Amino acid sequence: MRIEIDPAVRRRLKTELRWSGRREIGGVLMGEQLAAGHFRVIDLSIDTITGSAAHFVRSEAEHVAALHDFFERTGGDYARYNYLGEWHSHPSFRVRPSETDVGSMTDLVEGERNITFAALLIVRLDMWLHLRHSISLFVRGQPPQMIHMS
Ligand SMILES: [Zn+2]
Repeated sequence: MRIEIDPAVRRRLKTELRWSGRREIGGVLMGEQLAAGHFRVIDLSIDTITGSAAHFVRSEAEHVAALHDFFERTGGDYARYNYLGEWHSHPSFRVRPSETDVGSMTDLVEGERNITFAALLIVRLDMWLHLRHSISLFVRGQPPQMIHMS
């Protein structure tokens, strides 16, 4: 599985991370499938996260609205354009997923929602300039897998 981040999305993340400072932010990832097992993050929603891991239990309505808007823009071509996972920032920690993160993502793919795989992108901005990130993959019935770390 390969996941890349569109340059425009990287720029947007950097800007948002500059603004949010030490506040944690996050949202959902929307992706384009370029080939079998090869995805690109082409859009994301951005929420301010309040409370621990609130982003994972964040209003289903908001999640659905962001996706609905994305599906409208991409013509309902779900095989190519779809939900890819979740993201959030670790302004004060390393970009490695925390135990809580792993637990929340596992609940997501093992739970009752119709999501059988999801990526977790964790980002932080170093020196106001360098975007550090990790991407982990969670697949129903399989152990989590780190696919990128920088
Ligand atoms: Zn986290």
